[in-house]
Amino acid sequence: MLGDYPLCYLDTAATSQKPQSVLDAMAQYYLNDNANVHRAAHQLSARATSSYEKVRDELQGFINAKRREEIIFTHGTTESINLVAYGLTPQIAAGDLILIDTAAHHANIVPWQELAKRTGAIIKPIPLDKDCRLDRHAYQVLLALKPKVVALCHVSNALGTVNPVVELVQQAKAQGAITLVDGAQAVAHLSLDMAAIDCDFYVFSGHKMYGPTGIGVLYGRFDKLDLLTPLLTGGEMIKRVSFDGTEFGSLPNRLETGTPPISEVIGLGAAIRFLQQHLTPDVQAHEAELLQYLQQQLRALGDVHLYAAHSDNLGAVAFNLGDEHHQDVGILLDQQGVAVRCGHHCAMPLMQSLNLKGCCRASIGIYTNKADIDRFIAALASVKELLL
Ligand code: PLP
Repeated sequence: MLGDYPLCYLDTAATSQKPQSVLDAMAQYYLNDNANVHRAAHQLSARATSSYEKVRDELQGFINAKRREEIIFTHGTTESINLVAYGLTPQIAAGDLILIDTAAHHANIVPWQELAKRTGAIIKPIPLDKDCRLDRHAYQVLLALKPKVVALCHVSNALGTVNPVVELVQQAKAQGAITLVDGAQAVAHLSLDMAAIDCDFYVFSGHKMYGPTGIGVLYGRFDKLDLLTPLLTGGEMIKRVSFDGTEFGSLPNRLETGTPPISEVIGLGAAIRFLQQHLTPDVQAHEAELLQYLQQQLRALGDVHLYAAHSDNLGAVAFNLGDEHHQDVGILLDQQGVAVRCGHHCAMPLMQSLNLKGCCRASIGIYTNKADIDRFIAALASVKELLL
């Protein structure tokens, strides 16, 4: 329920609701297997370690990585990108170029800016074309400058637009760039294949793919991952410590410092199984149809500005109602039980490029149905009547 109304949840892009299997897996760990991983001789720890490490194997299969050591558990997409941007510091020199997608989430902008501050590297945004897609011509021009790093988003969290990452990565790599793809908004909608995308780093969060908060994934090609300087140092990530010096351990532990989010990893494992079972091609087609229905209904309502609402978008639609402030619209929708997100969506440069202060975003997931869209449209119609 949301107030007096049954909940109409259209904010899955911010965080998804969790299936019972995820809650059960986490409870099972706390109720029956609660122990720290990797450390003790006792059986409880062995069970916890086995459940924890099994998820790494499942993830390897889930995203088609070559090796289990290429999967690093983090606390989320933000931490994953920070691990890469910090870890690359010794490989970046003053004047090196870092290209960033204009549609990027702040999590895929700010860590690179910090890297640039530390090293004297130069950041250039990759502009968008008139359809709010990455400008392929401008991209070629920028790639000709031989960037050291190219940071892309797979699916824009604010607009739902999809980048053709296989091609974009291939073109960046042909110029010798290190590539990172932010898949936070892709993982709940697409089957991921690291061998096909062939990027150096790919990152996502558990809580946007029906898993718990506090857990994320950093995938990296083994050779590239192995070169990263650890951002965090301490227990778990070492081979040997003495007051004369410390030898770091090998991957994946070298980048997983301290006690990891154990129950969250176990919950993530259940989320992977949930997606493997439920995100069938039929369900993917249903999600695509639902998003198009949402776009059509918003257009049909009139006085709605839609932003980059392409038919091949995934998961989200961005809009404003007339000249009304997005926040007012969001509050009035909330009063009718409809949860959408309003604001800059952690993508201020994208909003600037659209000449917007912000917008509303309705986003869908595996559990969204046509009745949810109809409820939302009816609620928006009454907001329109009130405000316009
Ligand atoms: N990147 C994208 C595309 C996102 O949508 C988000 C979250 O909204 C993030 C990064 C940051 O994810 P987290 O807050 O889980 O670290």
